[in-house]
Amino acid sequence: MSHAFQQCIHPDCQTTYDLGQILTACKKCGSLLDIQYNWDRVSVPSSMKEFEKRWASRLNPLDFSGVWRFRNLLPFPADSDIVTIGEGQTILQKNDLLGAKIGMNADSLFLQYEGLNPSGSFKDNGMTAASTHAKMVGAKITACASTGNTSASLAIYAGVSGLFKCVVFVGSGKIAYGKLSQALDYGATTLQIKGDFDDALARVRELCDQHPIYLCNSVNPFRLEGQKTIMYRIMEGLGWEVPDWIVVPGGNLGNSSSFGKAFIELKQLGLIDRVPRLAIINAAGASTLDQLFNSDELRWNDGKNDSDLIRNYYEVMDKEDQRASTLASAIEINRPVNLVKALRALSFCDGVVRSVSDQQIVDSRAMIAATGFGCEPASGATIAGLQMLREEGVIAASDRVACVLTGHQLKDPDLTVAYHTGDPKKHEEKLHPAGVFEMPYANPPIVVENDVAAIVSALGLG
Ligand SMILES: *Cc1c(COP(=O)(O)O)cnc(C)c1O
Ligand SMILES: [Zn+2]
Repeated sequence: MSHAFQQCIHPDCQTTYDLGQILTACKKCGSLLDIQYNWDRVSVPSSMKEFEKRWASRLNPLDFSGVWRFRNLLPFPADSDIVTIGEGQTILQKNDLLGAKIGMNADSLFLQYEGLNPSGSFKDNGMTAASTHAKMVGAKITACASTGNTSASLAIYAGVSGLFKCVVFVGSGKIAYGKLSQALDYGATTLQIKGDFDDALARVRELCDQHPIYLCNSVNPFRLEGQKTIMYRIMEGLGWEVPDWIVVPGGNLGNSSSFGKAFIELKQLGLIDRVPRLAIINAAGASTLDQLFNSDELRWNDGKNDSDLIRNYYEVMDKEDQRASTLASAIEINRPVNLVKALRALSFCDGVVRSVSDQQIVDSRAMIAATGFGCEPASGATIAGLQMLREEGVIAASDRVACVLTGHQLKDPDLTVAYHTGDPKKHEEKLHPAGVFEMPYANPPIVVENDVAAIVSALGLG
């Protein structure tokens, strides 16, 4: 067998599959799959610092990519198979101004700004890896279901590489315009189905089971390999130190799962000696993980988690036709496909889960923007969650915290403008039904006559 392979995560199964198979679940037991490596057959640097040397050879596209310059830690493709468009040029930035507002000490709050990716969200970290595997297996058509950013990302990789056609499924009505415009502009075949994200994902999985179409949702274990590198870049931003906390919004839980896997491997390889704690933040209107983890005390339990508990939870959800509902559309998901892997990450990283309201999400998003970091609502959940954990005393003022800002501000400008202008129409349509009634950080435009004297007076200068 090659040094890299796919493996069922269930401890009683652990069936392995070679890299050439196109799978999104174990054929024997239906559990999720990991990409695993025989590390003694891979050349891994003795220290993470070694990766800095690749900055000197940035003209090589593999060394320029913020994902593939760490390719020794996700060594499933040959270099010639890698599909890259320069993703992962993202940076960890300290933000003391914002930190002070939410009760953090100076030098404690760091933002990992993943909105700076080519398609404007962290999804590109994963899509470069999924596209690489799609190329390895000779896929002709790729597909995904999406709340918006996955489709934007898949569309840009399909468009730029010219290797595959791509089909994206979005739910009706819910998608933010910035994201929809990207899928259309990059040339994806876009299917708007009558249903929500969970429906769209169920349909695309059926389609990919029956036809030779390559699925790029986060059930794809190759995609999650790329997302591990977000953690490497956070460590790089801290001079290769591990922060005390990673805070991330939770939707389908692909990020949370891949972050956990990143730290499990770094520990196993002796590249770190301690592990950060993980805080996963749900929106209150899409809080399956929070409910199962905190109310029902569902745990990883060495892979022997209580599947009846999960099944019952979904049965009740279906019977009562409970639909996910939040303004943070990127995390508006009721059936997180990576739930079990996220439990593993929570267990390894001594994690916590919280839910935050839409009011807290939009206020936090505006606070982040006012300190210079434009992000979309789902990313705002990180700071809202951090604030909650600070108030509870779970996170200390002096802890070093890295929050992942998952998507760019311009993905969802409608919501931003509705918040700042208090536009009565948008107010009613968008904000009030979601329980958002106050806009403490609103910065509305000032309407003024076409006249210098009026402008001077409006600015308070006259
Ligand atoms: C996809 C997405 C999320 C959710 O990430 P998961 O890995 O599905 O938990 C959060 N924020 C943004 C901006 C996203 O695009
Ligand atoms: Zn299995």
